[in-house]
Amino acid sequence: KAKQNGRNTYAFYTESITQQADQRFRLSNQLSKAIERCELELYYQPQIDMVSKRIIGAEALIRWNHPDDGLLTPWAFIGIAEETGIIHEISKWVIQQGCQQLKKWQEAGHQLTLSINISPRDFRYDDFYDQVAKNIQSSGITANGLELELTENGLMETSGNIRELLQQLKSLGISLAVDDFGTGHSSIAYLKHFPVDKLKIDRSFVKDIDVDPADKMITETIIDMARNFNLKVVAEGVETLPQHDLLLELECDIAQGYLYSKPVPLNEFETLLEKNSLA
Ligand code: C2E
Ligand code: MG
Ligand code: MG
Ligand code: MG
Repeated sequence: KAKQNGRNTYAFYTESITQQADQRFRLSNQLSKAIERCELELYYQPQIDMVSKRIIGAEALIRWNHPDDGLLTPWAFIGIAEETGIIHEISKWVIQQGCQQLKKWQEAGHQLTLSINISPRDFRYDDFYDQVAKNIQSSGITANGLELELTENGLMETSGNIRELLQQLKSLGISLAVDDFGTGHSSIAYLKHFPVDKLKIDRSFVKDIDVDPADKMITETIIDMARNFNLKVVAEGVETLPQHDLLLELECDIAQGYLYSKPVPLNEFETLLEKNSLA
């Protein structure tokens, strides 16, 4: 919750409460039209196999080409989208775009996993499963190339029969990743109950991994635990070579971060794919 509040107020913290409210009202009005105006865009950040250093996947990260404010990152609008319910439309759009793009890569012979971020809010709409199923079908993708990312806190927030829904989603052939792992207010016992395939170690642990023994130990513990649960591990926010080397030593499977590439527009990502080795 603290994170969510922080995220929502982040861009406007110097303004008064009234200005903030006006700003949010303005953005939410514009956001509701952003899809039809084609202002949303998916950027892609490569995910690297730590041993081969090859691109084995991408995370789709949404951007809003705002007519007045320029390129906005999700922190500026996902919170508003969640509060207003516009997230429902946005998620539909992201899933559709993502599947269509993945289909093109699959047809070109690329073996890639495309990870899509979803919001806990998405589960409040009972057509979520149908949306995913429909898009897998209509795009014609091989479903095991698609992955949904849900934050650890998001997973805990959602109540009811989420477990059943996750199982249904998995039965489509897609995989599930737990995002920002290690930061949530959760018991690791949920790993036993939820059919997840991957843990993404939060950037906050990776940041000082080569200088802070506690962060190294936490990361090592997460990797060991993932091994025992037969899950893959992704390290988020890898920015330096020492961080990379240490993660390799700890036998982390996959890495993602500015060291390899920032999230980039489609054409730049495809240039990286053509080289397909960032080493
Ligand atoms: P996330 O899913 O944890 O994504 C990772 C964030 O870390 C991204 O921020 C990415 O640009 C950033 N990042 C990657 N590597 C590095 C690094 O080496 N150093 C640093 N400092 N940062 C790095 P971004 O793109 O601003 O996205 C922020 C969050 O917004 C995402 O966090 C995700 O929770 C959410 N989000 C993004 N796209 C979508 C979407 O399509 N739908 C929904 N519901 N949420 C989204
Ligand atoms: Mg993510
Ligand atoms: Mg994350
Ligand atoms: Mg995050």
